[in-house]
Amino acid sequence: MRKNKIIAIDGPAGSGKSTTAKLVAKRLGFTYLDTGALYRALTLLALRNRIDLEAEGELVNLLKNSEFQLQTHSDQSRIWINGEEATGAIRSPEVSRSVSIVARHPAVRREMVQLQRRLASQADVVVEGRDIGTVVFPDADLKIFLTASLDARAQRRLKELREKGIDIALDELKVDIQRRDQIDSQRETAPLKKADDAIEIDTTRLTIEQQVDRILQAFRAVVQKQDENPRIRPG
Ligand code: C5P
Repeated sequence: MRKNKIIAIDGPAGSGKSTTAKLVAKRLGFTYLDTGALYRALTLLALRNRIDLEAEGELVNLLKNSEFQLQTHSDQSRIWINGEEATGAIRSPEVSRSVSIVARHPAVRREMVQLQRRLASQADVVVEGRDIGTVVFPDADLKIFLTASLDARAQRRLKELREKGIDIALDELKVDIQRRDQIDSQRETAPLKKADDAIEIDTTRLTIEQQVDRILQAFRAVVQKQDENPRIRPG
């Protein structure tokens, strides 16, 4: 039986997943795992090595031969690819535009799922992504699906990018987000989808604090239920 606790947070781009997941992890003293950062890291490597983004086998080889290190301190999460820091580079508009193409390949996803399960096996974790509740951890203790209007999501991304010094027009961002959502939701393998037993939270009009509180409340209820009836512990 799995001993560590897992909270899965899924949702489309800009739904508030990262900020919320990081804060939930911090409040609970859990580790935070950003699976999108892993797909972004692979995409960055592929672009740098001029690998055709449709070449599934080459992408898998690249993934198998690379080492990713993730680290989160308070609310800053960083990533190193083969020892070199790539925290800023994985958020570039070019990577954002290409990542869904890389993430569409079934063999890439199979490898990623294994990597993510390994990374999340050591401690209590909050894992965020697109297929965490449906594919990576279908037995998660708590599953959350965050949504928000396209406008709210684009505004949030714009703010995030501007804070990082990346300048992009709102309309361009909206088009990019819509395109990414479409590819993510329509791909054959592990599409972006709410798990049947996930709690859906529309964050359009919620503050980050409100989102975090709702998730913490739901988690407390789960833990209480598990304590009352240990046989319902998943894993
Ligand atoms: O979360 P973020 O927006 O950084 O994710 C970047 C992309 O990585 C997504 O648009 C999606 O194509 C891919 N992804 C995925 N499955 C995950 C996490 C991210 O396909 N679990």
